[in-house]
Amino acid sequence: MRKRLLTKDRLCRLVGSAEEGCDLCGTDKETHDHLFFQCPYSSRCIQLLSDCCKIELPTSNMEDWWSRKSFQSQTEADILAAILVAALYNVWWMRNHCRINNVLFKPEYVVGNIQNVTRNRCKNRWQDIMSFHWLHL
Ligand SMILES: [Zn+2]
Repeated sequence: MRKRLLTKDRLCRLVGSAEEGCDLCGTDKETHDHLFFQCPYSSRCIQLLSDCCKIELPTSNMEDWWSRKSFQSQTEADILAAILVAALYNVWWMRNHCRINNVLFKPEYVVGNIQNVTRNRCKNRWQDIMSFHWLHL
């Protein structure tokens, strides 16, 4: 991720908007690192994903996620990459939904979407998918 999404800190710099607060938690400035890793809402999503996957997912930044070396197989690495992409997309979707409609769903809802997207993306691609227990819950 190249941090090119128009988070509020970037919008503020580009167009001078005075509003920089995070829509998901309302407590901090919305930056890429905050929105996807430091925000209590996003952190809760990552924690729920970690619990579902029964593995520890990186929680500090994107580089931690990609630099993980302890994958059991390339398939596991690919699946975790798919989870990351789905997580980023769904957090960004929730942020936009909240901003536009002023409605914030529970983290469990977002995690359910992440599970569904990842499951559908992966199930036809890898034969040893059944070894990754989280995807066939
Ligand atoms: Zn936040």
